[in-house]
Amino acid sequence: MDKNDLTRRQFIAASAGSLAAVTSGTIPAYANLTKKAGKLAILGGKPVRKNKSWPRWPYWDENVIDSIVKTTKSRIWCRIQSRSGTVPTLEKKFAELIGAKYCVATGSGTQALHTCVEALGIGPGDEIITSPYTDPGTIASILSARALPVLADLDRESYQLDPDDVERRITENTKAIMPVDIGGQACNMDRIMEIAKKHNLKVIEDSCQAHLAEYKGKRLGTIGDLGCFSFQSSKTIACGEGGAILGNDEELMDKCYTVHNHGTSRRGRTEVIGPKYRMNEFEAAVLLGQLPGVHERFARRNANAAHLTYRLKNFPGITPQKLYEGTTNGSFYLFPMTYHKEYFNDADRSKFLKALRAEGISLSPYIAQGLHKEPWVEHILSSKVYQKMFSRKRLREYREQNRCPNCDKVCQEMAMIWASGPLLGTKEDMDDVADAILKVYENRDKLSSI
Ligand SMILES: *Cc1c(COP(=O)(O)O)cnc(C)c1O
Repeated sequence: MDKNDLTRRQFIAASAGSLAAVTSGTIPAYANLTKKAGKLAILGGKPVRKNKSWPRWPYWDENVIDSIVKTTKSRIWCRIQSRSGTVPTLEKKFAELIGAKYCVATGSGTQALHTCVEALGIGPGDEIITSPYTDPGTIASILSARALPVLADLDRESYQLDPDDVERRITENTKAIMPVDIGGQACNMDRIMEIAKKHNLKVIEDSCQAHLAEYKGKRLGTIGDLGCFSFQSSKTIACGEGGAILGNDEELMDKCYTVHNHGTSRRGRTEVIGPKYRMNEFEAAVLLGQLPGVHERFARRNANAAHLTYRLKNFPGITPQKLYEGTTNGSFYLFPMTYHKEYFNDADRSKFLKALRAEGISLSPYIAQGLHKEPWVEHILSSKVYQKMFSRKRLREYREQNRCPNCDKVCQEMAMIWASGPLLGTKEDMDDVADAILKVYENRDKLSSI
């Protein structure tokens, strides 16, 4: 269901009425959602939010401290010292938590993704299709294997990969799709899996932002051949730097272990090419100390996301991220929204953000521009390795086709809350966000002067 379409359509239907309301002197329906409108804080008015703090992130409590101390005193600081140390324990618990048979913990999400690419035998001459609107780690994992990241365009309303564009970009070299669950909410996994099946491609889920999020009754990261997670400081389960691979295929997961362990298998033989990407016991200690409250925090972020979405529901100026049918909940690493400047007197997003900041609400863009516009593209096109591995014709086409206009638009019009900590706040905190947005809207005629 395209719920935003519905919202937009409802608005269009409603706007004829509200236009009449404006001319007759009454306030359009959504304006009464705020009680705090008044002079903009940036112009000397009273801010919507003052002297209130947001929940801090990353999270810690005595459990986390105890866990680190215990690991320190145990002198088991490296996973190969014990089968019952924190890393093997975390692998078992994280697999159970998300609902996969096996887990290999790594030093980061990027390392997890790179390990998967290598374990699937993907390398020079091969192509993997992924999103330009993601963490640089996504494409770094492909480049580290000297494969070619092919970037497909986005669905402008969900900021997720557009499956039709993914399908258009398949070539004879394509070996896998690496869908990204941006924001921590599901991309269109049904269509991605369908396309992968049709073209016999592997699927490595980049669920680095999507811990515990569900899609059609399954947890993200358990739908493709392999799924990857990050525990970097900002993520919704965090230990500084860390990552994990999940999978149900024992043989493939054994390969992942071997690759991540400098090519050395559980049997102790050095068998393949592999970096050393093992998670250390202190990282796992932090994670184990943090797991007890994970479900509670996940539920709170979902409840707050639902409330904020509800508050903005009939307001056409800001549209929260479109969620695909079958999204029962999200991780809400980000709470992304589209800023429609046409409803704000055509004020640039930067002015909107500036006015909001003065109200005590910090929203920000995610990435300034899509990865298709970063200098690595020319770097690889002029590198000897890539010129050796791909035909001149393919590299020329690659450069010509490296365009993602929807992604460019998303980079310009998306504004989001870094949500890991803030979405653990109260309902009133969410009301502050909505009130500030609506207050800026009501003062939209002043935005050109700030
Ligand atoms: C964070 C992140 C990564 C990389 O994870 P690291 O642990 O930082 O290496 C990859 N993909 C996405 C979508 C991410 O958010």
